[in-house]
Amino acid sequence: MTNERSSGILTIDLDAVAANWRSLKSRLQAGTLCAAVVKADGYGLGATRIAARLYAEGCRDFFVATPDEGISLRRVLPDGAIYVLAGVDSATAAALTEHRLTPVLNHLGQIEAWRKAAAAAGSTLPSVLHLDTGMNRLGLPRDEVARVASEAPLLAGLKTRLVMSHLVSSELASDPLNETQRARFDASLSALSASLGTKPASLANSSGIFLGPAFHYAMVRPGVALYGVNPTPNAPNPMMEVLRLAAKILQVRRVDRGETVGYGATHLLPRPSRIAVVAAGYADGFLRSASNRASARLGGLSVPVVGRVSMDLITLDVTDVPETIARPGAFVDLLDGTYNVEHLATDAGTIPYEILTALGHRYERRYLGTSP
Ligand SMILES: *Cc1c(COP(=O)(O)O)cnc(C)c1O
Repeated sequence: MTNERSSGILTIDLDAVAANWRSLKSRLQAGTLCAAVVKADGYGLGATRIAARLYAEGCRDFFVATPDEGISLRRVLPDGAIYVLAGVDSATAAALTEHRLTPVLNHLGQIEAWRKAAAAAGSTLPSVLHLDTGMNRLGLPRDEVARVASEAPLLAGLKTRLVMSHLVSSELASDPLNETQRARFDASLSALSASLGTKPASLANSSGIFLGPAFHYAMVRPGVALYGVNPTPNAPNPMMEVLRLAAKILQVRRVDRGETVGYGATHLLPRPSRIAVVAAGYADGFLRSASNRASARLGGLSVPVVGRVSMDLITLDVTDVPETIARPGAFVDLLDGTYNVEHLATDAGTIPYEILTALGHRYERRYLGTSP
């Protein structure tokens, strides 16, 4: 599994992912389910490894974005529900039934496509109804909720496993939109109960869990918190750090005072310097907007990224690090406990989600912890 040629190594601690899942679950009342959102290849960390580990912990509900993501997950999960957030259409229905994937039905057209699939299969098919409560993205708008509530035949042949909605600003606990969405969700659930009966419901993503039990319903759907990102940005991070990223120094050079480093000559050296050239760049998801802002760790020191991030390389000012440490072949830490995904996101002017899902495919992924 380890590869001596790797110049970038992403270490993913599966025990920490499992601990984060258990810790989120411990915040729920007994009987409330804790799903795992593993879309975009488990936020870039490896969906199959993460899902297999969480299945071993007792997780039985997994959310992915696309049918293809669901198909690859089904290969490692013999049972357990796999929900496809993109839903279904006539082009994807057969693949969903073949791989026992459950579509999240986002509008009447998707409901119709899945109803037709059930009729064609001559059986009842599981589904999730997604109601829009304010995101105005995917999900049944209010008029479509009213139609489903009043026309029971629309759901003929479908077994509704879950009714869900999605929060707009759950990371801001004080945002009144949280309560507004919860009230709209409750109103729609009670309207639907007339035709559907009472169904399990789900509203909270990672941050939504921390809004309290009123937001938990029957199931919560954490993603980013499983991967160690703080779901409560204005308070200390309750989650365990999951990943480290290290990359290799390819060259160390002395550069005179007054010279510049990299494309566009954006960094002027104020003193005679040593510059380490490291094998990671924007093609690896080390975003170019972090140029002259991010930093790495080497020999116990923080070393700044100087000059532009280029496609395959970044340049670090290692003048203060002893030459025996800052040398070709040594690895620098790009992400660790002291400078993590959140710090890099701030320096790159983005959110931790984008940093995670951009983590490059040239990095070797090494998994720590027990793997089933
Ligand atoms: C991505 C996603 C989640 C998980 O969100 P996090 O903020 O990562 O916890 C939950 N529900 C839906 C519908 C999503 O698209």
